[in-house]
This record gives sequence, C-alpha cells and structure tokens, in this order.
Amino acid sequence: MGHFRDLPIAKKINWSILLTSFSALLIAGLAIISYELATFRNVALHDLNILAGVVGTNCTGALAFEDTEAATAILGNLREEDSLSGARIFSRDGRPFASYLRTEAPHVALPEEAEPDKIYMEANRIRLFRSIRYREGDSIGTIYLDSSLAKVHARLWRYAGIIVLVIVLLFPLVFIVSIGLQRIITDPIKDLATVASSIAEQKNYSFRARKHSRDEIGRLTDSINHMLESIEARDTKLVQQADELWRSNNELEQFAYVSSHDLQEPLRKVTVYAQLLEQENSDNPKPNTRKYVENISASVARMRNLIHDLLSYSRIHGAALSRETVNLNDVVRQLLEEMEPTISQKNAVVSVGQLPVVEANASQMSQVFQNLISNALKFSGAAPRVEISSEQVGDEVVIKVADNGIGINEKYRDQIFKVFQRLHGKDEYPGTGIGLAICKKIIEQHGGKIWVDSILEKGSTFFFTLKRPQGDSNP
Ligand code: ADP
Repeated sequence: MGHFRDLPIAKKINWSILLTSFSALLIAGLAIISYELATFRNVALHDLNILAGVVGTNCTGALAFEDTEAATAILGNLREEDSLSGARIFSRDGRPFASYLRTEAPHVALPEEAEPDKIYMEANRIRLFRSIRYREGDSIGTIYLDSSLAKVHARLWRYAGIIVLVIVLLFPLVFIVSIGLQRIITDPIKDLATVASSIAEQKNYSFRARKHSRDEIGRLTDSINHMLESIEARDTKLVQQADELWRSNNELEQFAYVSSHDLQEPLRKVTVYAQLLEQENSDNPKPNTRKYVENISASVARMRNLIHDLLSYSRIHGAALSRETVNLNDVVRQLLEEMEPTISQKNAVVSVGQLPVVEANASQMSQVFQNLISNALKFSGAAPRVEISSEQVGDEVVIKVADNGIGINEKYRDQIFKVFQRLHGKDEYPGTGIGLAICKKIIEQHGGKIWVDSILEKGSTFFFTLKRPQGDSNP
C-alpha cells in the first residue's frame, strides 16, 4: 500500500479503474455461477423426481405380476437419459427386482436394499429412493435413481471460461478507457504542479495555470491564479516602494553630504576672522576678547568634528560597498600605530588577541575599531586597559572590545547606538554622539549585529558579529 501511495497520480488512477472494473466483473461472474449452480441442481432434482414417478408408474404392472424381464426392459429405456448412471426397482419386501447400469458408468454401485423415500444431494450426483404405489394405494415397491451432475458441472465450467474470456478481452478496452479518463483528471493537476515548480525555481509570479474544467481542480486553479495575481501586484508595489525608498534615501544622503561639505566653508571663515580679531587686539587686549575668541575657536572645533562625523555617517553606502578579504589583525595593528600618541598620553594598555580574516570593507572595519577603541580610551579611569579579542560561533565570528572604564547604565544600552545620543555633557567627555551610530550602520550593512554589555564603574564590552568567509574551515 505504501508503494501504491508513492506512485504518480496517473498510475494510481489507471490501477484504480482497472482493479475496480475487474473486481466488479469477477464478483458479477461469481454471482452468476453461484446462482446457476443452485438453479441447475434444483432443475436436475425436479427432473429426476418426475422421471422416478413416470418409470415407477410404468413398472407397477411388472411388479404386480413379478415380471422382472418387463421391468428390466422398462429400465433399459433410461439409456436415453445421458445423466442417469443407474436405476434399480425393489420389490415390496425391499429386495432388488430389476436393475439398469449405464455402460459408461460401470463403477456406480447400486444399493442392495430399498430405503424409505429419500434424496441424497451429493457433490457430483443426486441419488433418490421413491416408493411405487398402485393408484395412490399401498407401496408395492421402490425405485432408485442415480443421476450424475457432471453435465451440470461442465456447463458451469463453460460459464466460468466465458467470464475469464470476457475479462481478458475487456482488458485492452478498460486500459484505453482508463488512460482517457485518467488524462482528464491528471492533466490539470500536472499543469498546476508544473506552474508551482516553475514559480518556486524562478520566483516569477507572472506564470498562470491553465483552467481545464469547472470542477474542484478548476476552482483550485482559479484560486491559485488569483493568489498569483495578488502576489505579483504586491511584488510590483514592493519593488516600486523599494525603488522610491532607495531614491529618497540616496537624495537624503546626498543632501547630508553636500550640506556638511558646504558648512565647512563658513566655518573656515569664522576661524580666520576669529584669528584676525585676536591679532588686532593683541597690542591692546581687552579683558574679555581673548576669552571670547577662545570660545569661538572651541565651538568651531566642535562644529568641525560634528560635520566630519556627519559626513562619515552619510558616506556609508550599503549598496555600493566593496568587500575584500580583510585580515582584522592588520587593520587593528595599523590603527593602534596611528593612535599611539593618544594611547601613551592616556597611559593605556591595549592588548589584542587573535582576530579573524573576514570578507568586509577594510576602511569601514578600521572605522568601527577606531570608534570603539577611542571610546574605550575616552570613557576610562586613570589606568585604561583595552582588550580586543574574537571568538567563532557557528558561521559567525564575534569580536569583543572590552574596557575597564566608567560603564554604561543598563537602560541606555540600546539608545547609545542612535545618532546624537550621548550620556554625558560635552564638558565632561567631548564627542558628537555619532560614533556608535556609524559602527551600527557599518556592522548591519555587513550582515552583523552590535551590542554592549557593561557594569557601571567596572567597564564595558562591545560585541559585534561578522559572517565567516565561505570555505573557512577553522572550527
Ligand atoms: P560620542 O563618543 O561621540 O559621545 P558615541 O556614539 O561614540 O558618541 O557614543 C555614544 C555614547 O555612548 C557616549 O556619549 C557615551 O555616553 C556612551 N559610550 C560609548 N562608548 C562607551 C564606553 N566604552 N564606556 C562608557 N560609555 C560609552
């Protein structure tokens, strides 16, 4: 049965039609044969009874006059009855009086004693005892007939043969009809299956299934086509929306880039005029002028940093990201060389464990490490310690930048990754609040995640994940 379930639908239908037709024919044949068997046997019994009556009546005279020869002659006429194997007349006292035995049936044993009226229905023959009465009076003898059922059986065998022949002759006809019927059922299903697999392979929702009929499969085809239309319409809308989103995002980035760039020019002028003001007043300094000029310069420096960071943020384009094989050990080594003055000034110790080789944009990776390491140095205590390490988890690498700094309150751990979100005033710790937003944007564009774990006053550990390069067999 399990094997049958796995057969293609076409074969299942063919087999079902063939088996049902032959079962029906077989059952009908068996019913006919059983009915005929019962009927033939009853008819044979009925005929034998009549024959016993007629022969018995014919023999009454011979019995009355004890004329054995006459009785034997009457019995001899029974040779005309093919199915009769033997017959015997018994006298009133139950002893054999006259007998007949068909020459083709010498093996048949005739009874030696008469029995009361009785019928023996046996598998291959019918035997019958019947008393002979003169004018419905007392019994004057008994007739015994032995009839073979061979003819009846031969007829039934012929019937069975005809049924088998009909089945064999019907086979090609049923087969051809079943193929025709099966196609009507399976062709629409095959069409649906082909359309479904084409859509799955090509992700093309413009395919439609052909409707063959108005039955359940026809309705299913309508529903599937309707669903495909909706998916296609939604797909087109999504593509349009993604297009629009990309365009407006691009415009926004362009705008941020251009305006940040243009803002630098007036800033430079403010710096120059502040310096000129300072020079003009250098001979005859007014008490507050120097302080004001210093404040202007500090604000300009902050503004410049802000513009610089905004520019960096707006330059991160995911679509145009070029990736290469990057050894993060080299990236961090070079970065630490550049940051050496700050590290020495802070009296910090930066230790670096083994880092992976990844498929990434090298300069963006450098920027992520730079932002995280500078934060670790910035938000630190007296003797800053920074540890950079990595670990492989499944098909990703997790990179950690840990410090022993001031830590981050738990409720702000997600907030600090948003643009301009800072937990301290600029007089306490300088900064623009863009560094971690840049890290998040870069890591997410590389398909990774970034998060932080921290204990206040003890330190923070920043984690980010990157995909392991394909074919990297390291455990
Ligand atoms: P910025 O450093 O310019 O303020 P960031 O986006 O880099 O901006 O960081 C946002 C805020 O997250 C910081 O102002 C600071 O409050 C907090 N922060 C970042 N890194 C650390 C760190 N290593 N330890 C403690 N706080 C940190």
